[in-house]
Amino acid sequence: MSPAFRARLEPRLERIAERFGTPFHIYDEAGIRQTVSSLKRAFAGVDYREYFAVKALPNPRVLAIMGELGFGFDCSSIPELMLARQVGAAPDAIMFTSNNTSQAEFADALGHGGCIVNLDDISLLDKLPEIPELLCFRYNPGPRRQGNDIIGKPEEAKFGVAHEQYEEAYRRALGLGAKRFGLHTMVISNETDFHGIVATARMMLAWAETLEDRLGIRFEFVNLGGGLGIPYEPGSEPLDIAAIGRGVAALVEEFRARRGYAPRIYTESGRYMTGPHGVLVARAINRKEIYRTYVGVDACMSALMRPGMYGAYHHVEVAGKNGSEPREVVDVVGPLCENNDKFAIQRELPRVVDGDLIVIHDTGAHGHSMGFTYNGRLRPQELLLRPDGSVERIRRAETVDDYFATLSFEPAVLGH
Ligand SMILES: *Cc1c(COP(=O)(O)O)cnc(C)c1O
Repeated sequence: MSPAFRARLEPRLERIAERFGTPFHIYDEAGIRQTVSSLKRAFAGVDYREYFAVKALPNPRVLAIMGELGFGFDCSSIPELMLARQVGAAPDAIMFTSNNTSQAEFADALGHGGCIVNLDDISLLDKLPEIPELLCFRYNPGPRRQGNDIIGKPEEAKFGVAHEQYEEAYRRALGLGAKRFGLHTMVISNETDFHGIVATARMMLAWAETLEDRLGIRFEFVNLGGGLGIPYEPGSEPLDIAAIGRGVAALVEEFRARRGYAPRIYTESGRYMTGPHGVLVARAINRKEIYRTYVGVDACMSALMRPGMYGAYHHVEVAGKNGSEPREVVDVVGPLCENNDKFAIQRELPRVVDGDLIVIHDTGAHGHSMGFTYNGRLRPQELLLRPDGSVERIRRAETVDDYFATLSFEPAVLGH
């Protein structure tokens, strides 16, 4: 959460909570717009486009802002493709990077005017309903690169085409009639060291030269994937996005000097674009003192899975208590019958009493979208803090009717 977002939100938080009720995610439109500008500025030295990873924050109101500012969309399912089309994305502004893809998904991706299809395996060439003119394969470097906790070691990750198959993938695509090509990889997640991202660009530009020479083709773009990190923990360093831009631009210029042209550079960030520009706001409803002290709030993993799923750190604050209040060490928990339903474990916080607003930081990406309804716990509403200070509801909370919607169906029985 940036100081600017905090300054915009804090004075109004109690009124927002009264007007809309808790819990809610609230996103900072001004912050999102600034990050869009800073990303564009960082990559001003190259022919560049960001395809926002829809799964990070699949809300049409936010997607429309991204589209208006010139971004494309990275989708990996039919509903995500529908969202991108719904906000008016042109076919070349939609990248379909799925894995373990069904034929129905390929048919949808290639229908409706098409999009840029990024294949996750060589075998999928035979399963496409037709060979699109423009094709791309996701590269998995295996033991050549490190990866990290979220995405795993590349050689243990299910994603992409192996090193030894990569040339063959393009050779076969060429043989089947593809005419235009791109390159794609994504080897890191939540990376906050710019060197790794520049190294990825170097690796992929080297592939471009090798494959161009061997196959007599040209690559229109190199997609470096997502994975740009954000500082979840106070005091951790933000990613030096300008250094990435400079590093990538230098590599692209070397490429151009050798070959007389250069591919466009694409990224497909989610977290970096919206992560810091959202918070989850919940109210403390219970306090329990057993072997540990527990602060129970009115949100749970249905609103934010990352702490329970990855052990991810999300900074927590108690609204209005930033001063000299007595502090204590607590677990901040939701109501799920799962012991990992905790937003914070053994965290030192100002002493919380029932009714306090708890602000969980950096939930603008992979927050609401990852939620589930296990235990009958429904997903919360989403709000947008607009640049003029007004607040708009951009998704209502789920209701019991939503929960029961799949129980209204045509009865079907297969007799014995
Ligand atoms: C999840 C994902 C992204 C976005 O990742 P971030 O960590 O949010 O930047 C981009 N591309 C692909 C293929 C993904 O699966």
